Amino acid sequence: MNQDCAVVRRRISLVVPFHNEAAVISQFFVSVTSVLRGLKDVDYEIVCVNDGSTDTTLDMLLMACKHDRHVLVVDLSRNFGKEAALTAGIDAATGDAVIPFDADLQDPPEVIPRLIERWREGYDVVLAKRAERNTDTWTKRGTAMLFYRVHNAISETLIPNDAGDFRLMSRNVVEALKQLPENRRFMKGLFAWVGFRTTQIEYVRLSRAAGKTKFSAWKLWNFALEGLTSFGTLPLRVWTYIGGATASFAILYALYLTLRTLLRGVDVPGYASIITAVLFLGGAQLVGIGVIGEYVGRIYMEAKRRPVYIVRKVYGSDGA
Ligand code: UDP
Ligand code: MG
Repeated sequence: MNQDCAVVRRRISLVVPFHNEAAVISQFFVSVTSVLRGLKDVDYEIVCVNDGSTDTTLDMLLMACKHDRHVLVVDLSRNFGKEAALTAGIDAATGDAVIPFDADLQDPPEVIPRLIERWREGYDVVLAKRAERNTDTWTKRGTAMLFYRVHNAISETLIPNDAGDFRLMSRNVVEALKQLPENRRFMKGLFAWVGFRTTQIEYVRLSRAAGKTKFSAWKLWNFALEGLTSFGTLPLRVWTYIGGATASFAILYALYLTLRTLLRGVDVPGYASIITAVLFLGGAQLVGIGVIGEYVGRIYMEAKRRPVYIVRKVYGSDGA
């Protein structure tokens, strides 16, 4: 190595999932490359994962790839969802540090130099925490807060509040992540699970630069369930306690009824209390079965050992 290279040039990989983001792509590359080009002593690559887009996203990515040697395009064979797309991108990334990034510029690229600065101080993970989420709707903020509360109350792995996927991870962390074998990947949880020396910085999350969100309320609900069932078995175990409490209550109630019958004789047959108890217990059992189903379903999906994603083709600066 020649002497001019005494300063170690490090390489960062920006990993960006794209699902029907044609509306925002040109703006994305302009903003991101202007920030990345300005970095001193840092080389970079932008790993773009096309997650089964049905608009012109792929063509636009390939165009960018043709004109910029820093751009790599991983084209998945269909839409696998954001978590799988991120996994594909992280697997393809070659940098000394990896930064997952949203295509819609909600995470401002200007934050990237701050992440790198902290990484240079020796941290393995630099979380970018949302200082405020004014641009999210009231319901999204509320439900997100509720999710973090519930998740952290019942799971062994704590997810930092208001930290999304946007963060910097060193190569060590990335290699650790790659060793996690599960197919159903709740990335925020996996990121937290691997640990390492972590610090955080704050930033203000903006609204989408263009296009619209790919996550409906229903998708978010399922995503939350995924998170809750990925990192803990409390929802499964809690039924033992609920069942125990209900049964104890039933015994006490039976005692009370017996005593009352002995003292006061039979009064009007209690249709209301019977039907209430039947319905309540029926409901509780169904929920319990549902929760077990949720976990059995996961066991079934994991048991199949299918890959998390399928790559149709990789386009790189030197390849195609
Ligand atoms: N995304 C993806 N696959 C999907 C859905 C979303 O790769 O099935 C990408 C999307 O292109 C964007 C990122 O995930 O880069 C975040 O999506 P979005 O901005 O719609 O989510 P929100 O910010 O509204 O939570
Ligand atoms: Mg977004």
